[in-house]
Amino acid sequence: MNVVIFGTGYVGLVSGACLAEVGHDVVCVDIDAAKVEGLNRGVIPIYEPGLEATVAGCHASGHLKFTTDAAAAIAHGELIFIAVGTPPDEDGSADLQYVLAVARTIGQCLDKAAIVVNKSTVPVGTADKVRDAIAAELAARGIELPFDVVSNPEFLKEGDAINDFMRPDRIVIGADSSLAVEKLRHLYAPFNRNHDRLVVMDVRSAELTKYAANAMLATKISFMNEIANIAERVGADVEMVRQGIGSDPRIGWHFIYPGAGYGGSCFPKDVQALARTAQQMGYDARLLNAVEAVNESQKGHLFELIERHYRGALAGKTFAVWGLAFKPNTDDMRAASSQALLAKLWATGAKVRAYDPEARHEARRIFGERSDLELCDSAQAALQGADALVVVTEWKQFRSPDFLNLQIVLADRVIFDGRNIYQPQEIEAMGFSYYGIGRGRSA
Ligand code: NAD
Repeated sequence: MNVVIFGTGYVGLVSGACLAEVGHDVVCVDIDAAKVEGLNRGVIPIYEPGLEATVAGCHASGHLKFTTDAAAAIAHGELIFIAVGTPPDEDGSADLQYVLAVARTIGQCLDKAAIVVNKSTVPVGTADKVRDAIAAELAARGIELPFDVVSNPEFLKEGDAINDFMRPDRIVIGADSSLAVEKLRHLYAPFNRNHDRLVVMDVRSAELTKYAANAMLATKISFMNEIANIAERVGADVEMVRQGIGSDPRIGWHFIYPGAGYGGSCFPKDVQALARTAQQMGYDARLLNAVEAVNESQKGHLFELIERHYRGALAGKTFAVWGLAFKPNTDDMRAASSQALLAKLWATGAKVRAYDPEARHEARRIFGERSDLELCDSAQAALQGADALVVVTEWKQFRSPDFLNLQIVLADRVIFDGRNIYQPQEIEAMGFSYYGIGRGRSA
């Protein structure tokens, strides 16, 4: 099928590459000319495992093209996807300016019947706004064309996005028209062979489904962080508690890891946006607000442990920070806990030597050049001249470091483990002070 995708970010580029991989003809449009120019030369603007090879193969086969020319792209496609950003507005609601700009562009360029598919995460009712924006532009041109607006939220996770798109748990389609459902069924057939994963529903339910999924996952994390905070105070180890509850199939093992708070481009903004939608409808979403509040304070918890250990005397100290991305296997630092930690460390006069396997360029873009930040080439380099080690992102390569070497290089022999990847007893037996999250003995 001929497919157009607006937006070549984490969702648009992965979707475009995966749809092209199974043989669809995909044109990806972005307003960022430098990004498009780079993509046409094979430069992938983000780190996502497997993406570079998939894009290269599809580009070479001619199934995947990149352009800034929206009109030419729209002329190509019968299915037009919107996969642009929906960042938080000042009041926490989703900023729809990019989605509606694409809708207007579609209305200005459309010259045949089409199905517009919204993949961006958008508040309930956005499909109506997209439909109105397209209709208004068509009316201004004095033409009438049949078109559908469908909600098809995306559930891929950064770090495993190709796999998620290729082997989805479910494909949610919110549509008013059976023709649109059939077209999408056809589009997704290559990803839907094993058993039917299509969950078809009305548009508003589909829009809400995406927020409900992210809010549920964020709730599990904040719940576990709350238990961790209680564990610290009562002298219990939350890692034992985690193992004690995860085996209950009603609870399950996923998303019950305590840590330094959730970040990324989805959970923080989606929880806030859903709470804001509720508020606009006169409902106080107390649980969602609490999930958000627990996470905000959790992002400051590692710093509290550091401050407590040093009794507030942090000026002049140097911290090796392992991990800057909001989670492993991505370079995405949007709303990452590392940002909150570094800001607090710098405010005390401490210095940071940071290493992340993929987020270095992103860190440079966010923080710029500054004398209290050294972005290092390796985990080992980050340790040089450091007083203490802080683990913020649980990249696999940090899980089993050379502790003998750490004993030598870390001046204060203290480890702050923001993801509970080490065993406190083992670390302490080697002569380190150890602080984890919710590990009662450190309270
Ligand atoms: P992103 O910021 O990585 O990419 C957005 C892209 O859209 C950018 O390249 C930008 O230049 C482009 N763009 C903006 N306006 C445009 C226009 N008018 N025409 C063409 N391109 C335009 O965003 P993302 O992380 O891919 O997220 C996109 C949407 O998908 C968001 O609503 C997000 O909440 C949702 N989502 C994201 C993820 C994720 O893991 N990142 C997962 C599921 C859903």
